[in-house]
Amino acid sequence: MKREPLIFEVSDKGKRAFRLPKLDVPCGQDPWRGYSLRESIEGFPQVSEIEVVRHFTRLSQWNHAVDIGFYPLGSCTMKYNPKVNERVAAFPGFAGVHPLAPEEYAQGCLEVLKRTEELLGEITGMDAFTLQPAAGAHGELVGMMLIRAALADRGDPRRVVLIPDSAHGTNPSSAHLCGYRVQEIKSDGSGRVDMAGLEKAMTSEVAALMVTNPNTLGVFETDIRKIAAVVHSRGGFLYMDGANMNALCGVCRPGDMDVDVIHLNLHKTFSTPHGGGGPGGGPVGVKNVLEPYLPGPKVDRRDGRLVLVADLPKSIGRVRSFHGNFLVVVKALAYILSLGAEGLKEMSEVAVLNANYIRKSLEGLFHLKYQTPTLHECVFSDKFQKEHGISNLDIAKRLIDYGVHPPTMSFPLIVPGALMIEPTETEPRRELDVFIEAMKAIAREAKESPELLKSAPHASPVRRLNETAAARNPVLRWTEDMTEPSRE
Ligand SMILES: *Cc1c(COP(=O)(O)O)cnc(C)c1O
Repeated sequence: MKREPLIFEVSDKGKRAFRLPKLDVPCGQDPWRGYSLRESIEGFPQVSEIEVVRHFTRLSQWNHAVDIGFYPLGSCTMKYNPKVNERVAAFPGFAGVHPLAPEEYAQGCLEVLKRTEELLGEITGMDAFTLQPAAGAHGELVGMMLIRAALADRGDPRRVVLIPDSAHGTNPSSAHLCGYRVQEIKSDGSGRVDMAGLEKAMTSEVAALMVTNPNTLGVFETDIRKIAAVVHSRGGFLYMDGANMNALCGVCRPGDMDVDVIHLNLHKTFSTPHGGGGPGGGPVGVKNVLEPYLPGPKVDRRDGRLVLVADLPKSIGRVRSFHGNFLVVVKALAYILSLGAEGLKEMSEVAVLNANYIRKSLEGLFHLKYQTPTLHECVFSDKFQKEHGISNLDIAKRLIDYGVHPPTMSFPLIVPGALMIEPTETEPRRELDVFIEAMKAIAREAKESPELLKSAPHASPVRRLNETAAARNPVLRWTEDMTEPSRE
């Protein structure tokens, strides 16, 4: 691998990407004049156009991306998103609109918001949506704030939130951040919520049960309506983490499962690319009982026009500037309308089919703690490979050599040495087969040449990093020892 210097190291004073001839017309007024706090930046690299283009193009090739290869990071739904939706979001009427434009000049944008709320309502069976939350965990926090507001309104504030041990890790954090004490509910032998445990824990102190469905094992909570009945009978609310909605669209609706509040991840299911650090969307849907507490202002239809309603006496208030990440909503709407009802259903069915194809192809070679059929993802463990001293980390690192992004590791916590694999519906059968062959080869290598796995990856720009040290003390400059495997 060729050494790639920092862009600062190739800087030469006076170099420019391009130069324009001197103006021969009068110079207009610079609208930013007086706004810039500094005239120049000390040490700013000075490079030619080809140097800057090559530097960043090469760096981009060091990264894995869904445009390059399989990206089975479980729970994250790293699916390929149609580029046409990016085009739509870039239309000047969407990308260029000012967030404070008066209603009469923004009717089209308000229509996008309203239509998306309505369609998400139809997909999930919920009565009303807010599009403000910027991500999944933000949606969870907003959902918990709605529950807290509703309980306070009833004069029945409660202190505890129940969370199954198969829930996503953000759930306990969100409940805690909202001021609740978190109490764990154990899973049963099938990986589902243990009903007896729930019955016992569900007291009049419990504000809500937060359930991830399908849970992080990819298992559907078949007793969800019974669960809802238990929670409701003691005056609590049922929160469903709907980040895994990719498995359910067009097949079943959380609203029909008596769920009171749900968040979705637009940057998983609905066409915003995930994982690049870009903007996301975590819309929250509620049943009518919670609607008065939704954040404002709300888009409403009045006499054939769309208006923003800010006078919402019970609202928890704004949770995000303006209307959240508007262009993410545009992409979601474009995606939903282009697929249509049948297309969305097929999306989920193929996501489930792909995960089960992998599960069946690799069972026996990689340990499955739970034998329950799964939906859109499956969770193996390193139990068989441990006999040869190989861990899930070694397997994940070796996958890089086969051109595959490592799966989610060591999560959920109820599966020791977990490898959580979510292929999504966008992977062609051929790509799934390449992955399955790579996993089979790794299972063989674990027995025959374990040292190959322990020193993996071999084909990447940097070898195995000490991840704790790399996070605390990042060294961004290339050094030769980055190519040496380092193990803790
Ligand atoms: C991704 C995910 C979340 C959190 O979403 P963010 O947008 O990363 O905050 C919550 N729950 C589940 C099940 C998820 O997969």
